[in-house]
Amino acid sequence: MSKSCPKCAGRMEQGFVPEAKDYSTNVETWVEGAPRRKWWGIDFKGLRRLPIETWRCARCGYLESYAPA
Ligand SMILES: [Zn+2]
Repeated sequence: MSKSCPKCAGRMEQGFVPEAKDYSTNVETWVEGAPRRKWWGIDFKGLRRLPIETWRCARCGYLESYAPA
């Protein structure tokens, strides 16, 4: 898959944004719907989650994110 930058038409390179948890690191995810806040944090139960691809322009550094199914 090749993408070009919407800002400067430079070449986009694939990457990801790590999400730091207490004792592990994961890839940031997209979650459907609005966040349901509970007293202990956000409730993700039953919601669709997709890992986020973040593409970076090699020329200007612009970041663009995708969450392919
Ligand atoms: Zn660019």
